[in-house]
Amino acid sequence: MIDGDAPALGDSFGRRFPYLRLSLTEACNFSCSYCLPDGYQGEAGPRFLGVAEIQRLVRGFAALGMHKIRLTGGEPSLRKDLEQIIEAVAAVPGIRKVAITTNGTLLPRRLPGWHRAGLTALNVSMDSLQRDRFHALTGHDRQPEILQGLQMAQALGIASVKLNAVLLRGVNDDELPQWMEFLRERPVSVRFIELMRTGDNEAYFLQHHRRADEVITQLLEAGWSERPRYPDAGPAREFGHPGHRGTVGIIAPYARDFCSSCNRLRVTARGDLRLCLFGEFGVPLRPLLQSDDDFDALLARITTQLGLKAAGHGLHQGQTGLIPHLASIGG
Ligand code: SAM
Ligand code: SF4
Repeated sequence: MIDGDAPALGDSFGRRFPYLRLSLTEACNFSCSYCLPDGYQGEAGPRFLGVAEIQRLVRGFAALGMHKIRLTGGEPSLRKDLEQIIEAVAAVPGIRKVAITTNGTLLPRRLPGWHRAGLTALNVSMDSLQRDRFHALTGHDRQPEILQGLQMAQALGIASVKLNAVLLRGVNDDELPQWMEFLRERPVSVRFIELMRTGDNEAYFLQHHRRADEVITQLLEAGWSERPRYPDAGPAREFGHPGHRGTVGIIAPYARDFCSSCNRLRVTARGDLRLCLFGEFGVPLRPLLQSDDDFDALLARITTQLGLKAAGHGLHQGQTGLIPHLASIGG
């Protein structure tokens, strides 16, 4: 905690939640094979939260000690008002980090504007370092733009730049040596994420799920070592190597104790609070985002709901909760 900030929200299991993942849209321009293999099928429903609603929401969470916001989706860069959203969120007292998770296609055109608006951290998804595989996985041959965007991020001096790669058996799980080479001179972190089963991807999951601990073994054998965790760190385990400027993070949702380090809450693009990525229910916050007069009621609803957060997800029992795919909530 920094002097003057509220302590981060906590739950009945002693976990703290300084971190909010806010989805800005369910739409996406990619069709990643494990997420939206048939592309986004524009579901009907209320429109996504607008800038004023988002600012009220973030003010509420910040008053409860939240200090990091990640903007996600779907593909958040498809929002035409993204720059305004970043500016509005960054202006909320108490918010110290504004991050985005994006597929990176619009980075070359839009990153400077996001940076000026107050973006402090960038996560870009890139499941393969090989252009043809990337094309096959996402349905789009746009890796060159992403690599250009990463160079731009470094030139702009964005403090935190990370890459996300989902581990996929038989698809990209032979690329660790290539990644290590990539990280030799680049001061970025790549996070290998274990594929999660969702409502829609069961057959794909059964065919391509690869356990993250197999990658940890390979890293250790190659001389990488695990870095100490800092307080409030999320569930990623970080690895470094003296000969490499970049680092590796491992996100293993099926690992024992994964949920005990949970430090985040989620809000969907239509304003539902989700206590767990794989939870069975959402709590509508949108009715309390229409007027500043509902500020106290908003805080009360969030804190009451946090009392209901479960100790862990039911993924081991095959329970994937409400979500058909992660584009519907933001990963
Ligand atoms: N469209 C943006 C992107 O891809 O970066 C943001 C939203 S996407 C849902 C957020 C992250 O979730 C991405 O890194 C993506 O690879 C990951 N993801 C999506 N489906 C997943 C799954 N079933 N298991 C593990 N990670 C998944
Ligand atoms: Fe779109 Fe991201 Fe899902 Fe890929 S992982 S389909 S980029 S939302």
